[in-house]
Amino acid sequence: MLSPLSIDQLLAVTAGEVRGRRFSGTISKVTIDSRQVVQAEQTLFVALRGAKADGAAYIPKLVEEGVCCFLVQRDWEIPEGLEEKASFILVNDTRLALQAIAAYERKLFAKPVVGITGSNGKTIVKEWLGQVLSQSYAVAKSPKSYNSQIGVPLSIFGIESYHQVAILEAGISKAGEMDSLQQMILPDLGIFTNIGNAHQEGFEDIIEKIKEKLLLFSNAKLLVYCRDHELLRDEIERSVDGQKLVSWSTLPGADFSVSVKRLEVQSKIILLKSDLSTFTFSVPFTDSASLENITHVIVAALSLGQDFPAIQEGLGQLKPVDMRLTLKPGLNESLLIDDTYNNDLAGLKVALEFLSHQRPKRSKILILSDLLQQGLPEKVYTEVAELIRSYGLDKIIGVGTEISRLAEHFGAAFENYASTDLLLHALDPDTFQNDLILITGARSFAFERVVNRLQLRVHGTTLEINLNALTHNFNFYKRLVKPETKMMVMVKAFAYGGGAAEIANHLQTIGADYLAVAFSDEGISLRKQGIKLPIMVLNPVEESFDLLREYQLEPVVFSPEFFRKLGKYAQNHAVKLAIHLDLDTGMHRLGFEKQQLSELKDLICAFPELRIASLYTHLVGADEEMHEEFSRLQLQEFTEMKTEIEAVLAYQPLIHALNSAGIVHFPEFQMDMVRLGIGLYGVEVTGKHDSALKAVSILKTSVSQIKTLAPGATVGYSRKGLLPEGGKIATLAIGYADGYDRRFSQGKGYVLIHGKKAPVIGNVCMDMVMVDVGAIEVKEGDEAIIYGEQISLKELADRIGTIPYELLTNISTRVKRVYYLD
Ligand SMILES: *Cc1c(COP(=O)(O)O)cnc(C)c1O
Repeated sequence: MLSPLSIDQLLAVTAGEVRGRRFSGTISKVTIDSRQVVQAEQTLFVALRGAKADGAAYIPKLVEEGVCCFLVQRDWEIPEGLEEKASFILVNDTRLALQAIAAYERKLFAKPVVGITGSNGKTIVKEWLGQVLSQSYAVAKSPKSYNSQIGVPLSIFGIESYHQVAILEAGISKAGEMDSLQQMILPDLGIFTNIGNAHQEGFEDIIEKIKEKLLLFSNAKLLVYCRDHELLRDEIERSVDGQKLVSWSTLPGADFSVSVKRLEVQSKIILLKSDLSTFTFSVPFTDSASLENITHVIVAALSLGQDFPAIQEGLGQLKPVDMRLTLKPGLNESLLIDDTYNNDLAGLKVALEFLSHQRPKRSKILILSDLLQQGLPEKVYTEVAELIRSYGLDKIIGVGTEISRLAEHFGAAFENYASTDLLLHALDPDTFQNDLILITGARSFAFERVVNRLQLRVHGTTLEINLNALTHNFNFYKRLVKPETKMMVMVKAFAYGGGAAEIANHLQTIGADYLAVAFSDEGISLRKQGIKLPIMVLNPVEESFDLLREYQLEPVVFSPEFFRKLGKYAQNHAVKLAIHLDLDTGMHRLGFEKQQLSELKDLICAFPELRIASLYTHLVGADEEMHEEFSRLQLQEFTEMKTEIEAVLAYQPLIHALNSAGIVHFPEFQMDMVRLGIGLYGVEVTGKHDSALKAVSILKTSVSQIKTLAPGATVGYSRKGLLPEGGKIATLAIGYADGYDRRFSQGKGYVLIHGKKAPVIGNVCMDMVMVDVGAIEVKEGDEAIIYGEQISLKELADRIGTIPYELLTNISTRVKRVYYLD
C-alpha cells in the first residue's frame, strides 16, 4: 500500500463513523479475507456481504488474532464485548467504501498507470507488458485476472512506493460497472485489446458494450487500440479526442503500420511510424491471437518511452506459458497446484488461497522461488513468511538465494536450493505421498520442469475444467432463484464427467447447499475425499445401509418396500436417518405414485426414525416448450401430493422440483431448493440463455502422426476412409475407449486444429482417430480440440443423434482431468 492511513483519514475517505475503541496506529494492509491477515495490528478488515456469506462473521475470531480495525455495514450489530477491543468504521456499503479507499490510494501514485480492458487478451497483455516493462522499471500489476469491482481495489493495494509503473486490468459484465473501475484505476495510458461476444447478455448491443468499456479511458492521456476491428475503430474515433489516440493497424492510415513475417517458430513484427521511423522486433510466437496481444504490448511500451533494446530483450523472453493456476494429478496420489508463472506477492496470495480450498491431504508443501523485483528483501521475505505461516504449510522448499531468508522463520521445515537444477537433482518424487504441493515461481526459474517431474503421466488426452467458468454458471442459476432458495448440485456420473471430488470441493467453497449422486459408492468416495456437504443418493440399495449410515449419506426412498426395510434397519440399530422422498408425477422411473400416498403416510408415522429431509419430483420435459403443459400438470400434482404428506409431519421438509431447465422455465416453482445439473457444466439445454453460460470443459488431445496419402488410399478399419484424390491426414491420440463416440466416424464429427475444422476420416478406433487435415498447417505434437468453447457440445451431440449429457458423461476416467482458474 502506498500510504498508511489513520482512522481519521479512513473516516474522511469512506464517509463513515467510528464506534468502539479509538485506534491510534495506522493501517498499511487492507484485506477482505480473514485468512490473509499477516500484520494484524496494521490491518483493516473489510467485511463484505456476498450472496452466501457475510465477512462480518469472522470478526470475533479476527479480534482474538489481534486485528483492531474493521470496516462494517452500518446495520451490522457489533457483538457484545467487541467494542472495547477494536475500532469499527460504520458505512452504508462496505464494497463502495473499499473502492473509495482504493481510489484515494491510487491518487497518491504519481507514476504512470496503464489500464487495460477489452473482451479477450486483457490478462495476457497485462502479464506480457509487465514482463517487458520490468526490463527497465519496477512494475506493479493486478494478480491473475483481478479485474472486478473487488479485484481492482485489492490490486491497487498491491502498489508500493518503490514501483515505477502500475498495470491494472478492468473487466465488466454489464452496463454501469465501468464507472467505479475508472474512478479507481484512472489510467494515464489505456489499452483497448479488442471486442467480442463475451458478456453480451449484460448489454443492449455491442456498441453499448464498447461505449461502456471506453469509459475507463475518459481521463487517460493516451489510448492504444487496433484499427482493424471496425466497430471498435469507428466508436473510438467518433467519441475520443484524436490527440489521445495511438492506433496500430495492418493497413495504412494508423500511427503504427504493422506488418508481420511469420517464420518457423517465431515472427518478425515491423512497425512503421507515421514519421517513417521503423522498428523491427522478433517475437517467439506465430499465432494471430498472440501476435495481436504482443503488438499492443510493443505499442504501449513505446508510448511509455521504454527504449528499443529493452523492449526487444523483454519480448525475447516471453513464453507461451500457461498463466493459469492449475490443479493437476501428481504421482503417489498427490495433487499439484501449478503456478509456474507467478512472480509476485499478490500472485502468491492467490495461489495460497487456492491451496487452502483444496481437499485435505497428508501435508501441504510449498515450492517457491525468489520473488524478483519486489522491493526491499528484508521486508518482502518477512511478509512472505507471515503469509505462509497463516496458511499452515508443513514444508517449504525455497529455490534461489534471497529466499534463504525464510530459514530463520521456518527452521527445519525449510529446505533451500540455489537453483532449479540443484532442486531437480535432489528431488525424489517418492518422498511425496498423498500431499498437496503448490509449485510457484518466477518465470526465469522454469518451474515447469519441477511440475513435469512430479505430475502423473497419463496419455496425451486431457479434459481441462475451468473452475471460474463453473463458478460463473453456478452464479448464473443462483441469480435466477431467490436468495433463500437452496442449491442442490447433481454430481452424479463423476460430476457429468468432470471429476466428482474436485468439482464437489469447488462447489463446497462457492456455496452449494447440497450434493446429489446416483449411487452410494459415489457418495462414499466423496466423503473419503473430505467432502462435508449433505449428500443425497438417488438410487441406494439395501446392501449399502451400513455404509449410508457410516458415511452420513441421505438415501432417496422411492417405494413402500424400501421405506419399510430402511425403517426396520433404523429401528434395529436405534438410529435416526435423513431420507428424501421421490414422488412420481409422470417420469415413471422411480418414486411413489399418487395411489400409494396413504400407504406412504402410514409408513412415515410408523417409522419416525426416518426423518424426511425433502420431498421432490422430477420433470420429464422441462427443456422443451412442447411439454410445457405436461410440466405444469406434474408441478400441480406434486403440489397436491406434498401438501398431503406435510399434513402428517410435525416438521417441514425441503420441497423441490426443478432441474437446470426447470430453473429457467418455471422460476415460480423454485420452492425451497433447485437441483442444478447440466447447466453448471456449461450447457443451457433450453437454448434461452446460451450465451450466458461459459464452457466449463475442454477435451484436448495431440497429433501423434501426420501422413500424406496417395490417390485412392483408404484410412482405417474396413477401408471406410476414402481419399480418391489422396491427401494429408493426422492421427490423434483419442478413440472410443476415451469416450470419443464411434458415431463420429466417417465425417460425422470434426475436431479443431489451430482453429480450423478437421473432419474425422474413416472409423474411430479404440484409442485413435484419423482426421483430414488437407487444408491445415499442422505438425506432430500439435493440439487438437475435441470439445470446448469454439466447438459446441450441443451441435456435436445433434450430429450423432444424442444429447450433450451423453457426450460429457462418456469421457473415460483414463483421460486426465486438469482444473484451473483463469
Ligand atoms: C440428473 C437429475 C437432475 C439434474 O438434471 P439436469 O437436466 O442435468 O439439470 C435433477 N434431478 C434429478 C432427480 C436428476 O436425476
